[in-house]
Amino acid sequence: MKILSVNAGSSSLKFTLIELPNREVVASGLFEKIGLPDSKYTIKYNGEKIVKDRALEDHSVAVSILMEELVNNNIVKTLDEIEGVGHRILHGGSEFTKSMLLDEDVLKRIAKYNELGPLHNPANIMGVEAFMKVLPNVKNVGVFDTTFHQTMKETEYLYPVPYEWYTDYGIRKYGFHGTSHRYVYKTISEYLKRDDLKVISCHIGNGGSLCAIDSGKVIDTSMGFTPLAGIMMGSRSGDIDPSIIPFVMKKTGKTAEEIVNDLNKKSGLLGISGISSDSRDVENAANEGNERAILAQEMYAQKIANYIAVYNNMLNGADVITLTAGLGENSKNMRKMIIDRIKSLGVKIDDEKNDFRGEFRLISTDDSKIPVYVVPTNEELMIALDTMELISK
Ligand code: ADP
Repeated sequence: MKILSVNAGSSSLKFTLIELPNREVVASGLFEKIGLPDSKYTIKYNGEKIVKDRALEDHSVAVSILMEELVNNNIVKTLDEIEGVGHRILHGGSEFTKSMLLDEDVLKRIAKYNELGPLHNPANIMGVEAFMKVLPNVKNVGVFDTTFHQTMKETEYLYPVPYEWYTDYGIRKYGFHGTSHRYVYKTISEYLKRDDLKVISCHIGNGGSLCAIDSGKVIDTSMGFTPLAGIMMGSRSGDIDPSIIPFVMKKTGKTAEEIVNDLNKKSGLLGISGISSDSRDVENAANEGNERAILAQEMYAQKIANYIAVYNNMLNGADVITLTAGLGENSKNMRKMIIDRIKSLGVKIDDEKNDFRGEFRLISTDDSKIPVYVVPTNEELMIALDTMELISK
């Protein structure tokens, strides 16, 4: 069966058409600048690439054009071949604990969490509505970034702040990247043929989060009420002392929103290095001896190592550490910097085994106390698998 896996942004729509159960990517692509003057789209299939500048007034127009292109290029013979559409949804609050079949009612319930994910949730919903309009007979499934983390206990998801902030305003840790952590857990537990694994999953891309998982259940995760919390990221600060915010407001005359914007977009690797949020640029500068780039990398690695140590404690000893996403999959240098900072756990990297990118591999030595694997993530596939399961019920 063919399933479309969709990630809709406010002015973009990313899709992957996947054949299941053999997991073959039939086509993938991106519609960009929807609703803006210079909109365009790219579709890749079977070694071919379509790139067109075309007016995309809204998401429904983008979906209609996508359907046209799929049929015209014989990627599908008829649209009936598309049996389900799975949508990435950022936020399901505390209410959604698993992926869901979507209808108007469920969409209304999801919209209640728009204020918790104002940049993503309304756009995700817009994407679903576009598919409901263009393909009214095809089932849609919502796969949330937050649901996997719903197994956390109060001791982990509550902040030590006035309890009424939680009861009155929903202030708690939600966690994100759940679909990626879930996919990585599924992959490593299938590979090792164990469903009782204790895993520290490190998703380190532009955004980044760690997740402590025991037997498929999340014990703790590093992102929080929003994706700003936790480890240092490409352009996000991760955890900082909140008193910094009013202090810098007074110094600069900026509003709280402007400071939070700086913490999201001008901090992390970018803020410290002053060069880029892209780890490749920072790595190149560090290799040329740029001191702030070196500092940025050291801080980045140390924060991740510290979280690994904490999660190892929470899991009472992890069975496996996994690394995934842009840096985890591709940067052998950052992998080494992180693993070299958890020597106290008896974890050792094998430099020869670590010399590769973009594949599933073991990178620790035979005598490493905890094995470390690189597990390429695949959120699109996870979304498609959930969709297949829900529409088949
Ligand atoms: P996003 O969170 O946007 O999905 P990705 O998971 O794609 O991010 O990760 C992007 C990050 O991965 C960037 O910082 C990029 O520099 C880094 N990255 C990608 N390829 C490499 C590579 N070959 N070497 C080092 N870093 C890489």
